[in-house]
Amino acid sequence: MRRLSDAELVAIASSAMATAFDQAAASPSPPGEVSPCMLGCSSCCYLPVNVTVPEVVQALGAARTVIDPAQLGKRVETASANTRGLDISDRLRARVACPLLDGLGSCMIYTSRPAYCRAYNARSSRDACDRLIGSAAGLADPNAVVVADPAPFDAALDAQARIDQDLERAGARSPHLDLTHALALIIGDPATVDDWLRGDVAEWARPQ
Ligand code: SF4
Repeated sequence: MRRLSDAELVAIASSAMATAFDQAAASPSPPGEVSPCMLGCSSCCYLPVNVTVPEVVQALGAARTVIDPAQLGKRVETASANTRGLDISDRLRARVACPLLDGLGSCMIYTSRPAYCRAYNARSSRDACDRLIGSAAGLADPNAVVVADPAPFDAALDAQARIDQDLERAGARSPHLDLTHALALIIGDPATVDDWLRGDVAEWARPQ
């Protein structure tokens, strides 16, 4: 298998997401449905993010344009160490934010964020998200109900399926990873990408 360059991996991610989410945007939400999602609303950035290899490479490239490398490495290492081995329940209880979330609750790589980050689009109140996922004021309430728009979820699945197919056509494997742990690995050793594209992924770096 020829090693795909970072530029080629970013192009695969960008193309798949543009196609999938443009198609979703062409089917507008029913009239009267207004999402409460807004700048600074970041409950879903405490959830683990399932990503493909091209999405990790794209996210890291974008992060390096907005964060000092030493600061980025420290943020990622801390978040990864604090979530390693936790299942989803324990991870929510730990309340560890994505290392790419800034102090004002905004994504530092918004236009280059992974597909699953684009999937969450609530139709219920912001309070419902805070209750379900937990907020600075308290722990998660598993009985809280969040109503979400299914269209972005479908688009995220579509985008990742397109990425998987593109990698397969290039003779590569397409393992899915946990964004925080994948960032930690790739910052520690950029050659880890080659291992991933051969299908070799540390168990703890896979999505939980
Ligand atoms: S990449 Fe951005 S949108 Fe996605 S979880 Fe991290 S901060 Fe949130």
